[in-house]
Amino acid sequence: MNNKKFFPLLFISTIFCFCFPSSLFAEESSTVNNNGIIDLRILETTDLHAALVNYDYYQTKTDNTIGLVKTASLIHQARSEAVNSLLFDNGDHLKGNPLGEYLVRIRGIQKGRIHPVYRAFNYLKYDAITIGNHEFNYGLKFLTTVLKGLKMPIVNANVYSVKKNKPYFKPYVILKRSVVDKQGKEHQLNIGVIGFMPPQIMRWDKANLEGKVIARPIVESAKEFVPIMKAEGADIIIALAHTGIDSEPYHPETENAVYYLSDIPEIDAILAGHSHSVFPGPTFKNLPLANINEGKIKGKPVVMAAAFGSRLGIIDLQLEVKDGTWKVLNSRSFTRPIADEYGEPLVKTDKKLFKLIKPEHQETVDFLKKLGI
Ligand SMILES: [Zn+2]
Repeated sequence: MNNKKFFPLLFISTIFCFCFPSSLFAEESSTVNNNGIIDLRILETTDLHAALVNYDYYQTKTDNTIGLVKTASLIHQARSEAVNSLLFDNGDHLKGNPLGEYLVRIRGIQKGRIHPVYRAFNYLKYDAITIGNHEFNYGLKFLTTVLKGLKMPIVNANVYSVKKNKPYFKPYVILKRSVVDKQGKEHQLNIGVIGFMPPQIMRWDKANLEGKVIARPIVESAKEFVPIMKAEGADIIIALAHTGIDSEPYHPETENAVYYLSDIPEIDAILAGHSHSVFPGPTFKNLPLANINEGKIKGKPVVMAAAFGSRLGIIDLQLEVKDGTWKVLNSRSFTRPIADEYGEPLVKTDKKLFKLIKPEHQETVDFLKKLGI
């Protein structure tokens, strides 16, 4: 590592070290033979709502508490600290600010052009994404058109095509990745990734969806697909769950189903979202069977990274592979913010990403100016 790289890294890790110990599993790893022990870091963005830039379009000024151009710096940093990592987006990323509206209602996405949100995802090399309920707000045609610009898989297992009576999207993928254990030895890991969203879409987007798709209950859909994923060779399963956390008794219409997804033994980690909350965090301190220090619900790692790119969600999994069988030995979940409580930035802007999405950002700013906003 050269000094140029080392000093900024040291500086950044100094900022975070008070809450994020550098070796999360130090106790375990010093006492066991490290052969076949793999640290795998899972990164989450969720509910971006088209907040690509650290800019408030309503107040026409910089806002350092939002924006994927900021979260991107946390992503680069979190990746650089880990030997093995994966990055996922948990949905509700196309709509929610004037940029998203401008692209659909005024400018449109021309043939061959990639939506700037998906251009950003391609640049950041997400491993897979799911979609949220708001992705349906502009209609199925718009969604299926813009999804073509994505260079990574998109998964959802509980929205079904009425005509075909099967999942409208790819319900899951099994990502094949080469991972390195603590002794430097390579192993092939098959990572099953499955996605869900609230069944309420049929009410919220009735005009866009009725007669075309139906939504099935989240937990029932998970129970249907996880055995298939296992049979197809998934060593671990990660749920991209565009749904919140609530311990109210489960029923098929449950909107926030993470609490009950965590009961499914084959699911090893859950990325939560939709409710714009922070897990682990004080909001959930009274949630039964939750461990706020370790970021677990019923012993299962869960993370929810608020919204608008304000935080990056991180799950550190420690896996063990023995004779081709994988198991989770330990985990810790936490989130990192892009700004402090006063709105002061904790990270720099990813300038390359900003340059990539600047045309649409500038067009939106200019359009709002013309309107006199
Ligand atoms: Zn949502």
